[in-house]
Amino acid sequence: MWGRLQRTRVRLDDVGNGVTRIQMTSLGATSLGMEVDAYLVGDILVDAGFAYVRDPLVAALEDREISLICCSHSHEDHTGNCAVIAEAHDCPVFLRHAEALWEEGVRSLAPYRRIWWGRVDPFEAREMPEVVESGGRRLRVIPTPGHAKTQVALYEAATGDVFTGDLLISPGAAAVLTWGNPWQEVESLRRVAALSPRRMLTGHGLMTEDPVPLLELKADRIESAARLSVELTADGREPREVVRDVFPNGELKDRFFEWLTSREFSRLNFVLAAVRHAPASFNVQTLER
Ligand SMILES: [Zn+2]
Repeated sequence: MWGRLQRTRVRLDDVGNGVTRIQMTSLGATSLGMEVDAYLVGDILVDAGFAYVRDPLVAALEDREISLICCSHSHEDHTGNCAVIAEAHDCPVFLRHAEALWEEGVRSLAPYRRIWWGRVDPFEAREMPEVVESGGRRLRVIPTPGHAKTQVALYEAATGDVFTGDLLISPGAAAVLTWGNPWQEVESLRRVAALSPRRMLTGHGLMTEDPVPLLELKADRIESAARLSVELTADGREPREVVRDVFPNGELKDRFFEWLTSREFSRLNFVLAAVRHAPASFNVQTLER
């Protein structure tokens, strides 16, 4: 019922390099100011959208050849229709850390996630190989944890395209999920930048040529915010105070999302995770002040 009220839409566009972008929207997605994107790279499907978009998505892909599905990560807005598409096209689904498919709240979604995206139907996830090949296309799998344990970027050297899922949604340091790790995000962003991709195709509306400066900018910003979080905490400041210093603007919106997500997504999580996961090499005692 709720799903039917979501007014979902699916749109397929040829975006060059033999890639079809699959844009998916719904009332929930629009209320967040974001769309969800999946891609067809030849006959490789990168991500499978969210459950509410199932009927129009399955219809849109009906006469397309799909030999395998690669998930950028396990979250419900990217894996929601893996089961139904894998069955319709009789193809396998690959995920890095396949054993962790149901972690990070995916098995029993918090209410806000269920309302926005809908439940993920169970499917069999196979372990993502280091290289994915099909129909003459070859995608290298680059681990990019930080946002999700299971996240990868898929890089096609022949075209210079890189598919990055949720690695880069906004250009700066931002709120993270309970299990988020800002330090890993920094490494992941730099790992992808080091490939010198010519085009980046993301999971939420951003498709951009020459993405390296943007990837590096975000890595730098997260790194300085994480450093500051550790330093201020070492000075004995309370976490909430640290949040205000690290993120001087937009406190109201952040607190609203913190409440809405039962604390699963917040800037406070960023500060706490920056401290909790600070690399051993980053010893506060020896910080130059
Ligand atoms: Zn997402």
